[in-house]
Amino acid sequence: MRILVVEDESSIANFIRQGLSEAGYAVDVASDGQEGLAYALAAEYDVLVLDIMLPYLDGLEVLRETRRQGLKVPTLMLTARDTVDDRVSGLDAGADDYLVKPFAFPELLARIRALLRRPPLQTGTTLIVGDLEMDTVVHQVRRQTRPIELSPREYAVLEYLMRHPNQVLTRTQIGEHVWNFDFYNESNVVDVYIGYLRRKIDRAGDAPLIHTIRGVGYCISEHGDHA
Ligand code: CA
Repeated sequence: MRILVVEDESSIANFIRQGLSEAGYAVDVASDGQEGLAYALAAEYDVLVLDIMLPYLDGLEVLRETRRQGLKVPTLMLTARDTVDDRVSGLDAGADDYLVKPFAFPELLARIRALLRRPPLQTGTTLIVGDLEMDTVVHQVRRQTRPIELSPREYAVLEYLMRHPNQVLTRTQIGEHVWNFDFYNESNVVDVYIGYLRRKIDRAGDAPLIHTIRGVGYCISEHGDHA
């Protein structure tokens, strides 16, 4: 899943970027409100983490503009002050959640997971497709009783597929949700990672779960004839 962090204090931005990357998320960081708005409109993010006090455009203005342009991406506001006015103006501008600085990183992670659980994404902390299960809290994947060891990037690709079961996802969609702006669209990196996942998940004798939709992309489904 891909997250945009808009934060002008570089020490906080770096701390968040590093922690989220280690947790397997693709992260882009913008350091002012204008840049943040441009990023938010340019790519498909799964969560925005938006500081309120920002140069050029503040976080509330960024949020209002993304909502005005129809973006429904779940948004967590960061604020230095815990006042009722701050909360109300943030929620009125369309924020989904709030975190007061300074915060403990595990709380930020838990709140991001909670935002990712909201509809239309699958609810609950365990994602299930057929006999494949992913526990998104402890990052464990198993097929029936067999544990499956995945690299952080393999995990991220599989999580995106499992949050959209029975849907055909294009390579571009998968790429944009799993990689940051370093992702190079023309490369075959998505196909390579799907290949890695297949070798680990769909072993000989298993009913295949990851399906290639010729000319379009990929789909995870327990129904072999889907799409
Ligand atoms: Ca700030």
